[in-house]
Amino acid sequence: MNKTASFAERIVKWYDLNGRKTLPWQQQKTPYKVWISEIMLQQTQVATVIPYFQKFIARFPDVVSLANADTDEVLHLWTGLGYYARARNLHKAAIKVRDEFQGEFPTDFDSVLALPGIGRSTAGAVLSLSLGQHHPILDGNVKRVLARHGAIKGWPGQKDVENQLWQLTEALTPKAEIQKYNQAMMDIGATICTRSRPACDQCPVARDCKAQLMGRQGEFPGKKPKKAIPAKEAWLLVLEHDGEILLQQRPPAGIWGGLWCFPEFSNRQNLLQAAKALGLAEHSITELPGFRHTFSHFHLDAQPMLLRLKSKVATDTLLDQGHSAQSKDRVMEPKPCLWYNLNQPSRVGLAAATERVLASLEPSLTKE
Ligand code: SF4
Repeated sequence: MNKTASFAERIVKWYDLNGRKTLPWQQQKTPYKVWISEIMLQQTQVATVIPYFQKFIARFPDVVSLANADTDEVLHLWTGLGYYARARNLHKAAIKVRDEFQGEFPTDFDSVLALPGIGRSTAGAVLSLSLGQHHPILDGNVKRVLARHGAIKGWPGQKDVENQLWQLTEALTPKAEIQKYNQAMMDIGATICTRSRPACDQCPVARDCKAQLMGRQGEFPGKKPKKAIPAKEAWLLVLEHDGEILLQQRPPAGIWGGLWCFPEFSNRQNLLQAAKALGLAEHSITELPGFRHTFSHFHLDAQPMLLRLKSKVATDTLLDQGHSAQSKDRVMEPKPCLWYNLNQPSRVGLAAATERVLASLEPSLTKE
């Protein structure tokens, strides 16, 4: 490689030789497809995203079909990807594009940035990768490469550190070959300049990477200051009848917003009270394996309790009884319910904890 080549020239050259060019969203690129892929790729690896992207695009080939879908179906196709706010924002943004942009995904930066769930880096990635517009990007992978290359101290979640990184990406992003450059920066961050073991011997910008020259790659970018996060308990009532499980839909805002979950209680006693109010004896309850689910700001220690019904309780009766059985746990308040058939699953979005319990249930229920 030419020793005087600029940072950008080396990155683009690397892309020509090694960059990813055959990913599904790189074929017949449109802002819509690149947008979907960019949102899915936030917090999720390429290999995981590919089948989700393919199913999503097969069902919603354009922004209007996405806008016209039920939120439930959008969440269903997202089940397993996590971070469901992404899917809800995707749907809201599609509705906005349908209603305010005549169904054509906008191509000016400010309009894209104003869509729900799209920040500066994502707007830049969508417009640069799909249309070749000149916009710098700064996703998590690019932050890591630049923080190491420039030995930028501090945690990028801090505003001043983030600002420094934005200045750096603006200065380094070339006018020409923007698609290749931006794609390559994301690829290098994902595949070479990895979090724990950067492969500096394969990196096109190693020779002037400050962290590499100092042998201190692990120190950049700076870590988020640690703070202890609290743990909460959730007692999940898994009501089963003949291969069907009762699920309730969470309110649209908050944890697992809009997703389907088991009726949930803050302690064992409240769950048992609700079960008794349904006329069900305590001894018919089976404790399933408990597990911890960690959110960004707390741990949820979940304890599912399986209660097998001899006959299905009418949902509204169940809710009335459940609600009157407890004052503190308001989860049994009337809200959409469904009997989820394990053999013919409904097309709804499931919370990660629900999916996990259902998966553990299937073998034992189908044996009988
Ligand atoms: S030389 Fe190593 S640490 Fe520096 S940018 Fe390349 S892969 Fe990352």
